Amino acid sequence: MSDTQSFEFQTEVKQLLHLMIHSLYSNPEIFLRELVSNASDAADKLRYEALKDDSLLADDPELRIEIETDKTQRTVTIRDNGIGMSRDEVVENLGTIARSGTRNFLEQLSGDEQKDSGLIGQFGVGFYSAFIVADRVTVNTRRAGSEAAVRWTSDGEGRYTLADIETRPRGTEIILHLREDQDEFLEPMRLRHIVKRYSDHIALPVRMRKADDEGQPTEEWETINAASALWTRAKSDISDEEYIEFYKSVAHDFEDPLRWAHNRVEGNQDYTSLVYLPKRAPFDLWDRESNHGLKLYVKRVFIMDDAKQLLPTWLRFVRGVVDSNDLPLNVSRELLQSSRVVDKLRSAITKRALDMIQGLAKDDAEQFASFWETFGPVIKEGIVEDAGQRERIAGLARWHTTHEEGTTTLDAYIERMPEGQDKIYYLTAENLATAKSSPHIEGFAKKNVEVLLLTDRVDEWVVGHLTEYKDKQLVSVARGEADLQSVVTDPKEEAEQARLETLYKDTLERLGTSLEADVESVRLSQRLTESPACLVVGEHAMSRHLEQLLKQAGE
Ligand code: ADP
Ligand code: MG
Repeated sequence: MSDTQSFEFQTEVKQLLHLMIHSLYSNPEIFLRELVSNASDAADKLRYEALKDDSLLADDPELRIEIETDKTQRTVTIRDNGIGMSRDEVVENLGTIARSGTRNFLEQLSGDEQKDSGLIGQFGVGFYSAFIVADRVTVNTRRAGSEAAVRWTSDGEGRYTLADIETRPRGTEIILHLREDQDEFLEPMRLRHIVKRYSDHIALPVRMRKADDEGQPTEEWETINAASALWTRAKSDISDEEYIEFYKSVAHDFEDPLRWAHNRVEGNQDYTSLVYLPKRAPFDLWDRESNHGLKLYVKRVFIMDDAKQLLPTWLRFVRGVVDSNDLPLNVSRELLQSSRVVDKLRSAITKRALDMIQGLAKDDAEQFASFWETFGPVIKEGIVEDAGQRERIAGLARWHTTHEEGTTTLDAYIERMPEGQDKIYYLTAENLATAKSSPHIEGFAKKNVEVLLLTDRVDEWVVGHLTEYKDKQLVSVARGEADLQSVVTDPKEEAEQARLETLYKDTLERLGTSLEADVESVRLSQRLTESPACLVVGEHAMSRHLEQLLKQAGE
């Protein structure tokens, strides 16, 4: 066998390892969830490859995970007979971080450990979490279909070694040499407890040694988890606790989810979905290309993570699984894109997610407010991109306004509209303070006409598409025709306006001529009370705010 070779970790891995060890020492047990989940993924991958080549499974068809401790060596071993890794795959998977968004994530780190440990909770920590409890990790692995086996070792300090070893059983074995203060993980009871907590639902049996009367491990194995896919069980058999733990393992989140919806659909379509609304934004929420979508299973066989086709981009924070009985097992990402089954699935799941969001709004205004603050700007992208859901999303949206503390809905705005007002007025601005002090709303304020104050970055884009809600036109107060005549029909005021028009006719004409090069026209306005003049844009021109946004974006 060849000599041991030593390699350096990619810089990002070093940073991540350091951060992880320092941020997660208060929650070290998650290493087991991550390693068991990797073992389960490895089994899923093998099952999937075996669809095409069943010889891969043949010699050892019963997929399982084994966990063992050795008190004298002070090791914990997690073993699977899944897909295993080739030498190249080991280098790729355990020496670099290939996952997109990682660099982004690392850039967000402040160096303040308190803050950063919050961030890391949003990031799937994965294999490297082994180093929270271990100061040396050995990985022995052989890929299905090959005889070549490899050993990887590292102390997590910046380097790892690789060596070719004697062939071994298919799959991967991870040996953790525990740190001084981590002896609790040598206790089988402690490990069982963690597996139950985090990994009960995984479809694969997790086994540990049976103990004899003295509590000593015997030769016999026993399965310690429920080993059935959670979503295949009846709702009535699943506790909230189980739903919550399942969410944490699917979403790699430490925080409980806000809500979930578990549905089995039979008949025209045949699938089960279990989808969750998270409480907290993932670190890459703003990356529209980020991994998103649901875990896709076909007839209980894992097919892929992040099946983007199952959710629109504006629901990219929703997590969960879909298990379809209609799709073929060999479905590929390409196939998903042109599948009518998937189109139907996606619209059903979109509707379900919106139902969940609506339910939250109805049941818990306070929780909904914080949910909307976190995810609202993303959901609003749906107003632009999803004409079919436009009105529904607009109805859920919350906006700042001149007439309420906090925020309002469009429906509440319409409810408050006085007789004679038939439009919904809004102003887009960079922030609330700017909006509130804008000369554009002076006249509206004086006449007590409500104006929505739109301050999210996406709002400008959103109102470009949301021109109407429940047959009421949305009108910007910063645009040409949005003067108050339409609202105020008092004959006395009309007469006054006419008098002023005549009085200032000459002045306006003179101003118009001298400013010819800069403005389209000069008009007498009712929108001002304090300020002497303000600039507005034409009815169909680009708004000032959008102009600024585009400038910032370098267009
Ligand atoms: P993730 O699971 O999110 O991909 P991890 O850091 O947990 O990230 O694992 C990195 C990669 O290492 C996995 O994607 C997989 O390719 C490989 N890997 C880890 N554990 C195993 C295992 N037990 N068997 C096969 N491959 C594994
Ligand atoms: Mg993993």
